[in-house]
Amino acid sequence: MLSFTYDALPARVVFDAGAVSKLAEEIDRLGVKKVLVLATAQQWAVAAEVSALLGSSFAGLFDRAVMHVPVEIADAARAEAANLSADCILAVGGGSTTGLAKAVALTSGLPIVAVPTTYAGSEMTPIWGITADGVKQTGRDLRVLPKTVIYDPALTLGLPVPMSVTSGINAMAHCVEALYSKDANPIVSMMAEDGIRALAQALPRIVKDPEHAEARAQALYGAWLGGSVLGAVGMALHHKLCHTLGGSFNLPHAEVHTVILPHAMAYNTPETAEAMARVGKALGTRDAAGGLWDLAAMLGAPVSLQAIGMERRHLERATDLALANPYWNPRRITRDGVRELLENAFEGRRPSTQIPPH
Ligand code: NAD
Repeated sequence: MLSFTYDALPARVVFDAGAVSKLAEEIDRLGVKKVLVLATAQQWAVAAEVSALLGSSFAGLFDRAVMHVPVEIADAARAEAANLSADCILAVGGGSTTGLAKAVALTSGLPIVAVPTTYAGSEMTPIWGITADGVKQTGRDLRVLPKTVIYDPALTLGLPVPMSVTSGINAMAHCVEALYSKDANPIVSMMAEDGIRALAQALPRIVKDPEHAEARAQALYGAWLGGSVLGAVGMALHHKLCHTLGGSFNLPHAEVHTVILPHAMAYNTPETAEAMARVGKALGTRDAAGGLWDLAAMLGAPVSLQAIGMERRHLERATDLALANPYWNPRRITRDGVRELLENAFEGRRPSTQIPPH
């Protein structure tokens, strides 16, 4: 019988090619006057261009965002916001930049406007993370959920193809785990299925032509759905493994998601037939896990942990870490099961989970 509890999150989303030109209007709408812009050093130029659109509301540009939000950088950005008496934070960039904005909002309560330039989806979630002494602490707090998100596909035209592919599969991972989440509900599942479909259609087109405006819009739409479902329902084994591998072995976020996802799906398939049928439908295959692996390989993405810098001697410790804190998963988690999953991911073996025809 259908049964669910759903807390919809508030967010204003403005989506359009060229939507960033509406930035000043959106800032006015929030009634704020002093905007601190955040970016990575690599994206300084695009952040400066976006800053220029703010006119007299521009308070300053802090371009020291880096992966995993080190507490020292969070503190420096918080100090900058206080020194400038900023009343709003504008994040221009991927998950690392949005993450830094969240760290500032967490302690200051300042509203965030996000202009995402990858497919990570952090802009749609109330989840924050800050790393101190090599350990990433995470939590949920509505204060860090951006008030306004401006999705402008034109700002993603230059996202390098390898990053587009892995970031897109990162967004698909949110959708896959949403479909079998313990909090799954019909609206979130519709969004998740369509997110997978949009990304599966868009990524091959982007690989062929990175500046394909329509494909970029379709991928960003899929990323929006991925972020939305990530913010709405709890995740499971796949996200736990990626969090562990990324945090403890310093592996790149989107690539880890890309390598692990087909294997986490294969592991969970025996208990998630309906969810996997929906993933398969969105991918156009009867074998959801194998089909996703094929898609990643076809798009030129890494398919093994060894290809992204993991060392074999770390597999035992990774298994222990993944099992350390109990967490919900649709299929019971066993040490042998996780060890085998990581072994398969390490070697880059193609999983196969053919769903028998009815
Ligand atoms: P990222 O933000 O670290 O960006 C990767 C690199 O790509 C950076 O050097 C960045 O400057 C560059 N870049 C970004 N957009 C670009 C563009 N359009 N063109 C050219 N270069 C561009 O990577 P990410 O995968 O977006 O984010 C990963 C981080 O986000 C991780 O720390 C992860 O934990 C976090 N995250 C958090 C949530 C959440 O809900 N809290 C969700 C997803 C990801």
